[in-house]
Amino acid sequence: MLKQVAVVSGKGGTGKTTITASFAALAHDMVIADCDVDAPDLHLLLHPQIVKTQEFKGSKLAAIDRTKCIKCGLCKESCRFGSINDSITIDSFSCEGCGVCVIVCPEEAISLKERISGYNFISKTKYGTMSHARLNPGEANSGKLVTLVRHNARKIAEEEDLDLILIDGPPGIGCPVIASVTGVDAGLIVTEPTMSGIHDLDRALQLLNHFNILPLVCINKYDINRKNTEKIVKSCEKNEVDIAGKIPFDPTVTEAMVAGKTIVEYSPENEVSQEIKTTWKRVLSVLNK
Ligand code: SF4
Ligand code: SF4
Repeated sequence: MLKQVAVVSGKGGTGKTTITASFAALAHDMVIADCDVDAPDLHLLLHPQIVKTQEFKGSKLAAIDRTKCIKCGLCKESCRFGSINDSITIDSFSCEGCGVCVIVCPEEAISLKERISGYNFISKTKYGTMSHARLNPGEANSGKLVTLVRHNARKIAEEEDLDLILIDGPPGIGCPVIASVTGVDAGLIVTEPTMSGIHDLDRALQLLNHFNILPLVCINKYDINRKNTEKIVKSCEKNEVDIAGKIPFDPTVTEAMVAGKTIVEYSPENEVSQEIKTTWKRVLSVLNK
């Protein structure tokens, strides 16, 4: 039976991608889905070779038919995004595709056209097939693109007869995160023992609880503030949330990133690598319960 696990974090910079990439290197027979479509970075460690690219048309853009336009200026007055200038030309960067100008134009000179908001990719990595995407700068609708990445990952899992999808979720608790975790079997929250880490962990836990997703917690760099780590552990115990791993701080992790490798491959005997292996085993045991 297909299982899906999402690695998330209440905020960026907690080491989520380092850990997810290491999981990918440790796991076998799974599909990788990088759902951080606004700022993807899993590719920096997994080095995917793209085998399929598709345009993602997630938004619309107003277009004026100049043969019909009588330059009445109604569209310019009505556009609350200031996307139409005095010479009745649309600024494609600021147009939100809301369609108000289409409604107010007395000459039916404006229509909405689909525009390319990004690209989604299917790639081969040495760890398995990867579904990923990139949203163009300034584009919205990342949730829709995340859903497409997950749809493609599921399709690959069916085609390759695989029963695990490893999802690298975006940071935060917004729409793309919700799209990344909906329907998964477990969500591993990567946090760090700082005040903002504790706060964001709380928000991420609330999100997973809201969607009835089994939460697990991994405390990264747990030894940089043992007092805060203790607070996280106590809070998790109180709320019956499983701590799947506690990973120490080690500058070797940065060395591995600079070398473009996962830490578990760069330095397999390193304590961080050992802890990541333990965490991954814990995640698998929870998934297979
Ligand atoms: S509302 Fe229509 S006719 Fe008037 S300026 Fe805009 S495009 Fe032209
Ligand atoms: S679609 Fe909306 S944002 Fe774009 S030009 Fe028309 S009114 Fe402005």
